[in-house]
Amino acid sequence: MSNKFIPFHVPSIGAEELREVEATLRSGWLTTGPRTAQFEKEFKNYVGAPHAVAVNSGTAGLHVALAALGIGEGDEVITTPLTFCSTVHTIMHVGAKPILADIGADGNIDPDAIARSITNRTRAIIPVHLGGLPCDMNAIWALARRHGLYVIEDAAHAAGSHYQGRPIGMVPPDGDHDVSDAVVFSFYATKNMTTGEGGMVTTPRESMAARMRMLSLHGMSRDAWNRYTEHGGWYYEVVAGGFKYNLTDIQSAIGIHQLRKLETFVEIRRCYAQIYNAEFAGVKEVEIPPDDPRSGHSWHLYMLRLNLDRLKIDRREFIEELRRREIGASVHFIPVPLHPYFARMSLGGHSCRRALELYPRIVSLPLYPEMREEQVRYVADCVKEVVTAARSPRRSMLKPGPVPVERT
Ligand SMILES: *Cc1c(COP(=O)(O)O)cnc(C)c1O
Repeated sequence: MSNKFIPFHVPSIGAEELREVEATLRSGWLTTGPRTAQFEKEFKNYVGAPHAVAVNSGTAGLHVALAALGIGEGDEVITTPLTFCSTVHTIMHVGAKPILADIGADGNIDPDAIARSITNRTRAIIPVHLGGLPCDMNAIWALARRHGLYVIEDAAHAAGSHYQGRPIGMVPPDGDHDVSDAVVFSFYATKNMTTGEGGMVTTPRESMAARMRMLSLHGMSRDAWNRYTEHGGWYYEVVAGGFKYNLTDIQSAIGIHQLRKLETFVEIRRCYAQIYNAEFAGVKEVEIPPDDPRSGHSWHLYMLRLNLDRLKIDRREFIEELRRREIGASVHFIPVPLHPYFARMSLGGHSCRRALELYPRIVSLPLYPEMREEQVRYVADCVKEVVTAARSPRRSMLKPGPVPVERT
């Protein structure tokens, strides 16, 4: 097999994106304008939501969603310990307190742990569809209904995921279904579809969309495009303490074409994930990532789990062995309580034992449409080679390692 390095991720950018970016640059309108409006329209049609607001990152999307719901000082927001730091940062940006509720066997936030974390200060739940595997939304929506809580989905990994037959973010028009108040997507460079940096928030409510739009553009009452067309380009009113979170037309030019290819991207990811699953099925040293047959997994990440009690090496050595074979791997995520900044503060809630136990076992393998099938098979062969060479007689205990002290 070729010894050319297989990076952890390579984005799929084609001639369509290049042409659209060039056309945008030549058009004379670079910031939020007609292409962003087009991207929003196509995105909301794709997921089946009545409203979509483009923002310049997933992080910005989480922040404006929390701010638009009026969440702030004295409020608690429940989320998972196994997520990217910005899920937690944005809760703090609005002045609220993040509360971590542990994960379940599938790696996603556990609804029972959420239930145990609810207090009279709880205002919202932010579930994260880890790796693109949808959370148990019916259980989360039921809790939210019972306790009068908002739900903001962190769907940074879930563009192209389906929950029980419906795209993540969909708002069925009959009005009979539970839906979230906001669903936040990320178009960061490594995500299932990208604009370099970017994000989108879908919502069932017109008022919520309008408020997020206003907050994402300095709290101005009209965005620049509307001012240009309606007032000759000069008049605006600042009606709130807003942010600079709008998506440019240069980025939307990329997003429009990434979105049109998303289904194909996810199909290829699914196919490659199945190859990995089949290759690892009989390998006792590893465990394939959880899936849910009732849902559509976008396979943003292929999070292999190492059975450390059957291995003489730890996760760090495993990743080094892959690197020696010209393969890039990653870890999603370092649990929130292990970062020095978050460790210093009391995040409340209950124990994150399961997240801390899973963490040393997870390795994200390369999985993206730019890979060729032979590269996927090469990665699978290398994984098997590494774990076979590192096989150890089964021990009853996990390898001793630094066990982090929890602060609750
Ligand atoms: C990437 C990511 C985000 C943040 O998205 P950005 O577009 O990078 O700001 C939030 N949550 C999760 C789980 C992510 O992976």
